[in-house]
Amino acid sequence: TLQDRLTATFRNLRGKGRLSESDVNEALREIRLALLEADVNLSVVKEFIAACREKLTGAEISQALNPTQQIVKVVNEELIGILGGQTREVRFAKNPPTVIMLAGLQGSGKTTLAGKLGKWLKDSKHHPLLVAADLQRPNAVNQLQVVGQRAGVAVFAPEPGNGIGDPVAVARASIEEAKRKLYDVVIVDTAGRLGVDAELMQQAIDIRNAVNPDEVLFVVDAMIGQDAVNTAQAFAQGVGFDGVVLSKLDGDARGGAALSIARVTGKPVMFASNGENLKDFDLFHPDRMASRILDMGDLLTLIEQAEKTFDAGQAQKAAEKLISGKQFGLDDFLQQMQAVRKMGPMSKILGMMPGMGQYKDQIGNIDEKEIDRIEAIIYSMTPAERANPDILNGSRRTRIAKGSGTTVAEVNGLVNRFAETRKMMSQLGAMGALGMPGMGRK
Ligand code: GDP
Ligand code: MG
Repeated sequence: TLQDRLTATFRNLRGKGRLSESDVNEALREIRLALLEADVNLSVVKEFIAACREKLTGAEISQALNPTQQIVKVVNEELIGILGGQTREVRFAKNPPTVIMLAGLQGSGKTTLAGKLGKWLKDSKHHPLLVAADLQRPNAVNQLQVVGQRAGVAVFAPEPGNGIGDPVAVARASIEEAKRKLYDVVIVDTAGRLGVDAELMQQAIDIRNAVNPDEVLFVVDAMIGQDAVNTAQAFAQGVGFDGVVLSKLDGDARGGAALSIARVTGKPVMFASNGENLKDFDLFHPDRMASRILDMGDLLTLIEQAEKTFDAGQAQKAAEKLISGKQFGLDDFLQQMQAVRKMGPMSKILGMMPGMGQYKDQIGNIDEKEIDRIEAIIYSMTPAERANPDILNGSRRTRIAKGSGTTVAEVNGLVNRFAETRKMMSQLGAMGALGMPGMGRK
């Protein structure tokens, strides 16, 4: 993964005072690979990397982050920017009904989305109407009716009098129906072919002209990969659209399509669909997608928190102690724990660190109350015991348990865990990837 490769890059970059051209190039080479692996369109990748290089070259070095973290941060911000920055909300019409039209290839997930969107709107106190304007496939109307029933949302379907066989007439009639029956949002489901098709594109344009939508949403399968750009361009130039819905994000696609489409069309991704059920649906969050595309796990969150809260001096002292091979004692352990606790729940923080997956079980066992207990135990030790826990024999442990109001088993547990942590810390120290400024420096 990119995370692994950047960890290797960390090693090369650590300790340098400023971003050199070759540092930037080296890191961007890894980022480029990660984007291509996420199926971002090649020309989009090239443009993107060029924009990042421009931002990074000659950039001032942050105090809180090491150079690679800083590069990742800039790349991530650039990515989020292209993906639309913040979540873009639906624009509701001043005079209801708000009309939302769905467009996209066949099988992209439009009809499924109509149900999800209907339920989502209904849950937020709207009164939506789904419209079956896909009369291309024999079963399409029925499919929407089933979806609507499941979502508990009304469906407007062709009947004698409102345009059997004519999707444009059905769409037009649905708006009248919505006005009559006071539906405040109309969601128009349309037909699509497997490939872009002139006749169906014209049909979509005719429907658009008939209903004058407030939002045209382009629904696209996240698995489409490299084809995303061509398809999106065809729809952008044909029917046109205001926002993108990425579907099938529950698959293993990393979502590079989102970046390609956003970059090429300049339109924001608004919703994400991640499953066949009605509840598998959410507003699109550019920051989450950026970290999915970069495949950085939660390293990005860690960078953010390190910037916010970490006490650099303290961390550096502990790190230097580790690196210089001096005994890392329980006092340091306690200090580290207290410093890390400031950053958020312990288990979460440790879980975010690269390479910590193997310690998940131990990490999961550390809870906040337990840290209080650990504090009490360590405070009941003499300085000599804290500096060198190896001298803790049976009678010392009994005394400490008494003094801290815990049991000998709990004291033993701490001493054992401390030994584990010491091992863990020296590993991290060697990796230089703890996210602490100065960590691993000479
Ligand atoms: P349409 O032709 O654009 O209307 O697409 P449909 O809504 O009929 O969806 C096509 C297929 O994709 C159906 O089998 C859906 O169940 C499935 N589908 C739609 N959205 C998702 C999704 O987010 N995740 C998964 N796994 N399947 C989806
Ligand atoms: Mg459909």
